[in-house]
Amino acid sequence: MTTTTAKSSRHVTAEDRLSALQGPAASSAPVHQARPAEIDAETVIHELTRLGVSRPEPLIDLNPEIIDVRGERRAPVVISECPVCDGRFGLPTFEIRGSRHTVLTCEECGLGRLDPLPTVQELKAFYPPQYYGSPGAKFEPLTEAVVRGVGAIHVRALTRSLPRGARVLDVGCGRGVLLNTLADRGFETHGMDVSDAAVEGADPRARIQVAPCLTQVGYPANHFDQVILWHVLEHLSNPREVLREVHRIVKPGGRVIVAVPNFSSLQARWAGAGWFHLDLPRHLFHFPVAGIRQLLDRTMFDVVREQHFSLRQDPFGWVQSALNRSGSSPRNALYRLLHKDGVDNGVSPSTQRRLKAAYLAGMPLAGLLSLLTASVRSGATVCLVGQAN
Ligand SMILES: [Zn+2]
Repeated sequence: MTTTTAKSSRHVTAEDRLSALQGPAASSAPVHQARPAEIDAETVIHELTRLGVSRPEPLIDLNPEIIDVRGERRAPVVISECPVCDGRFGLPTFEIRGSRHTVLTCEECGLGRLDPLPTVQELKAFYPPQYYGSPGAKFEPLTEAVVRGVGAIHVRALTRSLPRGARVLDVGCGRGVLLNTLADRGFETHGMDVSDAAVEGADPRARIQVAPCLTQVGYPANHFDQVILWHVLEHLSNPREVLREVHRIVKPGGRVIVAVPNFSSLQARWAGAGWFHLDLPRHLFHFPVAGIRQLLDRTMFDVVREQHFSLRQDPFGWVQSALNRSGSSPRNALYRLLHKDGVDNGVSPSTQRRLKAAYLAGMPLAGLLSLLTASVRSGATVCLVGQAN
């Protein structure tokens, strides 16, 4: 992750459209605030921060309330250049309760984005220590075993064509669900992540680099046979630059594996603000399938495979999204119940029993729904394999 310039948005006028289309020089006209100024605590803190007065680490709600504002048909706002299509206008889509950030959808390509993009300090606050769980484990033991088992099956499928000893890099490797399997399969295993806390307990066979962004590690050019970005790109403020860097460090004909939640999926569209995989405010971009394909194309990768079924992500996404939509329990309460450090999540024992019953009853149906949506290429998550051209 990198430093980001947080740009605030404002409503679009006809002159804005004209000046944005005319290019950067013309669009640097003075900004007029269309709405009356509102003074709130966030604004004051923001101003103090801007003036160099340090702010205390805010307590971030890992599961904030999301408000769908699409029905209000608000006017588009000016955005910084879209990393997929260079578009300059975004449609207000979601608001996050208690946050200055909103989600806008690019008018041209449908890419969702957090706006304004967070500052480095805000980004740090989005990932409090409890986000990573205890070293080496994130869920209660049985769920953790299932997550690791399914992850291993996935890695085997993704690396089938690679010879033993191939050099593989897992970007955003975390505690290493993938690293173990990569090392077990005899690959020269490399991992990269943004913080020491994230990689604590990772497989000692993996060679790990900690840096604020992949672009700052300085891997040699033409170095890797395969680079994996497993549910990572949506967390980055500069996805295009990172994919360009991946293109630089893979060997000619080398591959990138990109898995992201699918913003154009049936699950995303049905669940709206209740969609489990929105994961706000940590997901900075929300990719529709066409958008991620376009971004790979722009960064000189040929998409050679597009996979729409993830046993790890899709069925659970249906169950938790349905619960979120129903509003019968706090947002993502089931996820927190299954999370190792989230058992005491403030819901009553009777609600916990109800959530577990919904999980057991809902997963078979959710599995079936996931297979059906995958068959029409609308899985809740999508995995693309790109070959460097
Ligand atoms: Zn766009």
